[in-house]
Amino acid sequence: MDRSCGSCSSCCTVLRVDELQKLGGVSCVHQDQSGPGCSVHAHRPAVCRGYHCLWLKGGLPEGSRPDQLGAVLDVIHDGAQARLEIRECRAGAFEASAELAEIAERYRVTMPVRVTDVAAVLDPDRPYRVLLPGSEEHRVRGEWTEIHRGGQWVETRRLSWLERWTRRSILAWRGRRLRRARDQGPSRVL
Ligand code: SF4
Ligand code: SF4
Repeated sequence: MDRSCGSCSSCCTVLRVDELQKLGGVSCVHQDQSGPGCSVHAHRPAVCRGYHCLWLKGGLPEGSRPDQLGAVLDVIHDGAQARLEIRECRAGAFEASAELAEIAERYRVTMPVRVTDVAAVLDPDRPYRVLLPGSEEHRVRGEWTEIHRGGQWVETRRLSWLERWTRRSILAWRGRRLRRARDQGPSRVL
């Protein structure tokens, strides 16, 4: 399927770009303020160059381009497990879109669907949801996961000590990276 991004630049918000010390969920400093586009297009980082969302790959209908849907979708393969990743680029898009809800319902039968919103990007306990078959939903915040079935709360679980230790190590590393980025300011030189 031959598609092009056209006026969409939604992935410039949702992607994490380490070369630019850019967090996922925040606009890139190189986004052209006068419209869609990248001011360093010819020299953009490899992660931007190589990125193709599910729509661009032909995995969604023509009219479901991310800037129209309000979210960027990807099928991520993590070892043997695949999941659908829905990352909002417009606040409240998932709740407001019948089309996104329909896509999530279709995929959750065969793979987990992870939904991340655009709020609280800097919050290390930034919440996200995982939709599973049989109306099961995991609401994850930090070390805690609320399990819901059929819209009803069932139980709350905490990560094991080993998972907590791993998570805290990752957060400490990320904190050091953010402090370094803040000290250096946003990178404008690729
Ligand atoms: S989100 Fe998809 S369609 Fe939009 S600019 Fe990125 S790759 Fe292109
Ligand atoms: S460098 Fe360009 S392509 Fe990459 S995220 Fe920034 S604006 Fe988008």
